[in-house]
Amino acid sequence: MKNLIIFSFFAIVITASCNFNSKNNKMEQTTNDEYKIFILNDVMRQGNPDILISPDADTLKKYIPDGVFPSAINAFLVQRGDSNYLFDTGMGFKILENLAALNVAPEKVHHIFITHAHGDHIGGLLKDSLPIFPNAQLHINRVEYDYWVKEQNPQFLQIVEKYKQHLHLFDIEDTTANKPLFADIEAIAAYGHTPGHTMYLVKGAAPTLIWGDLTHVMPVQMPHPEYSVSYDTSPEQAAKIRENTLKFAAENNIQIAGMHIAEGLGKVTKSVSTGYKFEGL
Ligand SMILES: [Zn+2]
Repeated sequence: MKNLIIFSFFAIVITASCNFNSKNNKMEQTTNDEYKIFILNDVMRQGNPDILISPDADTLKKYIPDGVFPSAINAFLVQRGDSNYLFDTGMGFKILENLAALNVAPEKVHHIFITHAHGDHIGGLLKDSLPIFPNAQLHINRVEYDYWVKEQNPQFLQIVEKYKQHLHLFDIEDTTANKPLFADIEAIAAYGHTPGHTMYLVKGAAPTLIWGDLTHVMPVQMPHPEYSVSYDTSPEQAAKIRENTLKFAAENNIQIAGMHIAEGLGKVTKSVSTGYKFEGL
């Protein structure tokens, strides 16, 4: 299986432990001297566990006793040297404000990598029907692109039209651990949440796996990755990739970044009781 082959390659190169400095009310966190990763928090909110498919009442009571849990909509900025890479854009509520706080002008965003085309991930690509990032190359998995074009999704169609000069569709089969999508970014298929949902591995001595919407209800899906949510297009596929990815992240002590994780960045460990645990950084 392609994902596991890629994962095992990276098991060899993950060696460093890194120093994390949390600043600026969780908006930014610095990893190592090779690259910096910043959480661009668009929304903080209370999550609703009702989106889980057929949750067991005892499980819900055990892990979400108050009936709500902290959730978020995040994008991420990776800076390596003078290059700025954006991973998703949130709804677009605070993307410009967050970038301005980091002294990154929209014109200085060089590449944008999209995990999938739901509105809370691509909402920050246009403003007043114009591209917010006029110089950015927009990278989208061709499977995801084909799905939303076939659906005739108006928001997606407008975005690809406006970015057509800078649109890069990629075939996941053409990317491998030894042949990354782009210099130091590896694309990994994580189909299930949407037909072309894609994770990105930022390479370095301490790589970060940007896992998009692998999880939505962290308090339940970490101990029980088998639970999918009602807006996973293939709940079974989503559960399988979640299991595989959590196993990989825990076994390799790899940093992960999640678009709907309140803490944004963190580490996954195997739980002594059930499934996995997440610890924010
Ligand atoms: Zn989402």
